[in-house]
Amino acid sequence: MNQVPGCRQVRDEVMSGRTTCAHVAKNAIDIIRTVDESLGCYHEVFDTEVLETAEALDRQVADGKDPGPLCGVPIAIKDNIATRSGRTTCSSRMLQEYRSPYDATVIRRLKDAGALLVGKTNCDEFAMGSSTEHCAWGPTRNPWDTDRVPGGSSGGSAAAVAAGTCSGALGSDTGGSIRQPASFCGCVGLKPTYGRVSRFGLVAFGSSLDQVGPFARNTEDAAMLLEVISGYDPNDSTSADVVVDPFSENLDRPIENLRIGVPVQMMSDRNDPGVNARIEEAIDVYRSMGATITSVDLPLTDYGISTYYVIAPAEASSNLARYDGIRYGHRCTQQPGETLEDLYSRSRSEGFGDEVQRRIMLGTYVLSSGYYDAYYKRALQVRRLIKEEFDRAFNECDILLGPTSPMPAFGIGDDMDPLQMYLCDVYTVNTNISGHCGISLQAGFTDSGNGLLPVGLHLQAPPFQEHRLLRAARMFESATAHHEAVPENSPG
Ligand code: GLN
Repeated sequence: MNQVPGCRQVRDEVMSGRTTCAHVAKNAIDIIRTVDESLGCYHEVFDTEVLETAEALDRQVADGKDPGPLCGVPIAIKDNIATRSGRTTCSSRMLQEYRSPYDATVIRRLKDAGALLVGKTNCDEFAMGSSTEHCAWGPTRNPWDTDRVPGGSSGGSAAAVAAGTCSGALGSDTGGSIRQPASFCGCVGLKPTYGRVSRFGLVAFGSSLDQVGPFARNTEDAAMLLEVISGYDPNDSTSADVVVDPFSENLDRPIENLRIGVPVQMMSDRNDPGVNARIEEAIDVYRSMGATITSVDLPLTDYGISTYYVIAPAEASSNLARYDGIRYGHRCTQQPGETLEDLYSRSRSEGFGDEVQRRIMLGTYVLSSGYYDAYYKRALQVRRLIKEEFDRAFNECDILLGPTSPMPAFGIGDDMDPLQMYLCDVYTVNTNISGHCGISLQAGFTDSGNGLLPVGLHLQAPPFQEHRLLRAARMFESATAHHEAVPENSPG
């Protein structure tokens, strides 16, 4: 199957003159054209613009210049990240026609590094969901089995990378939306520490939880992307003024005496048996590389889902108040005699899908006077306790290890009630609640009874220890070949 090469390979081939950016760009567009009709990863593909940018980069390379560390590398962008090119819809009718007048900081950084932005990818509406089915324009399909979901909410980006339509992609992770789709699609997905990457231009969902992060087909590519998008940004007061280590350097140097903690809560016998089997094998891989493995008890993480589903909807209800049909977003056609209140209410009912409306109602409820102390304030207190529990665990071990998701990709249209869907995030939400960093890696497959599906290995590291996280991830990759598997059944 024809695949766009990874970030490192594209950059090396372009700079050594073995290929041109224009060739890489044309190939990527061709692959997208062949594959995307059946996968539905992209809302919009920037064909003409990509070719023009590629030719301009080729002229610079021909002049002996180095246009940047991602020169000629095709990258796909989740459609909740503002780009001047095309629309930024968040997969919502509410923003169907929205064109951003500015680029998000992460987009500006990618452009400055010479990347080619190939298009905008599908996601759950306003990043709320775990399946990329709650979308105004239809679902994305999993390249390993097109009857299944790619995970969510950044499912379009994950599937686009796994299917080889681009070298890497950006997604956002509020409670698992990068790591869970990476796990379902068998690629790498990294959620940086809160504050590591600027949120300027990321459409806000849960502002104290949201982070932009990379998808790639291996850890080296993920490190290259993270290096470019990280760093302090005066336009985001929550971005951290912390040194950005050269994440892609020394990646191959194994961490000596690595201390790995395996939270007992994550190895539940309610997980898919194939998931637990792959994680046990991963533990053996690390043990054979000299790591010490200990069990750690994180009892408060059992409260992660309840805490997350108070805080995230609370912040969402406040962030989404701006879409009133006047200042922002879809406006209903006015009927004679209608009041302002009617206009708000009809515009919002028409513009937002069911899941978003559910979150707004939940969020408004937990913030309302009389319930604020019982729900929102309580959730913030539990959040602090969960953070302290992780701090203590990270005093004892360097990395935490477990499955990314209790199950592999489920079927499109499976009859899941909202609560079942929320439980998909059981192992990922705590990272966002506490604010540290995490990564999902392809760890092999589980048999669905109808073919093999990827299983994700979830590693977590303390705040601003992305270099440690990536090096530990690279150790696993160097000892296994799981990351090399490509989805044969992919329509390409
Ligand atoms: N699936 C989770 C939710 O629905 C996480 C979403 C995300 O990380 N953006 O809220």
